[in-house]
Amino acid sequence: MNKTPIVVADPPDSRDNEVRPFQIEGQTDAGDVRGRAVRLGTVVDQILKAHDYPDPVARILGEMLVLAGMLGSIMKFDGIVTIQTKSGGPVPMVVADFERRADGIGRLRGYADIDTVKLSAFGKNPSFEGLIGSKSGYMALTIDQGDKMERYQGIVELKGASLSDVARNYFTNSEQTPTEIRLACDKDTVSGFWRAGGIMVQHLARGEEGRERILDRETQEQWDRASILMRSVKTEELLDPQLDLDQLLYRLYHDDGVRVFASEHLVHACRCSRNNLLTALKGFSDDDINHATVDGRIDVNCQFCNTTYSFSPEDVRGD
Ligand SMILES: [Zn+2]
Repeated sequence: MNKTPIVVADPPDSRDNEVRPFQIEGQTDAGDVRGRAVRLGTVVDQILKAHDYPDPVARILGEMLVLAGMLGSIMKFDGIVTIQTKSGGPVPMVVADFERRADGIGRLRGYADIDTVKLSAFGKNPSFEGLIGSKSGYMALTIDQGDKMERYQGIVELKGASLSDVARNYFTNSEQTPTEIRLACDKDTVSGFWRAGGIMVQHLARGEEGRERILDRETQEQWDRASILMRSVKTEELLDPQLDLDQLLYRLYHDDGVRVFASEHLVHACRCSRNNLLTALKGFSDDDINHATVDGRIDVNCQFCNTTYSFSPEDVRGD
């Protein structure tokens, strides 16, 4: 990993916190092999540090935030992408959520539920499968683009040694799109800041959506090469603050040629607000409000950003 510590605030020339769409040019018709690269610096550090998760749990949430950024950037219209795992393991639920509004900025947030008793039985370095990949577990993806497109939900089993495996299975089996994907999240060894990154390439059906995918010999070779090169990416390369996404893409695909498109900027932002919570509390019965009142206050915690809002019973009962 890099020797230079990263800084907390994004400097003006920072290339962190973005999704970079790209296309591999190759010898054949362009446009068959497309991908997205994601890099998170301060965004993932802020989200993970708002909580106090054990490192192996934080890594999974960090990778899921990268996946949410990738999928969110594929949305045609503004909307919300939610990725959620559910299982009977020591980490029963992980949620990552991406929202794009009219300003074109991608907002990320996320959290994990932990069963501390179950987790304590797993030792210092629990595997992904141990933490969330239990037999009955699944990962759900929801894409909601408002009234512009029908709400979409896809589900895949939590099978595999990593979140990358689960995501690859999802695209290959549920979406019928040949996909190679790598996700990573870890602490910078020098600065202690969390970083996350990922890269995905897909073999898309040629031409208009819905047409038959053409995998002739040449495109098959191009696809094989693109996916094999991607598997050679090292975790350090996905996270390195000194290696921006364009340099990484050039390193991987300069032989075939790689064309990059405008990147999407990502920030950490939560949708909770005092007003929204107050509106929700006003819908509660008097009994429920009495139950929730401790020492004359009603404290409500937002699980996503770990902010606690405090209300008096008068706030809730008033108009
Ligand atoms: Zn919040």
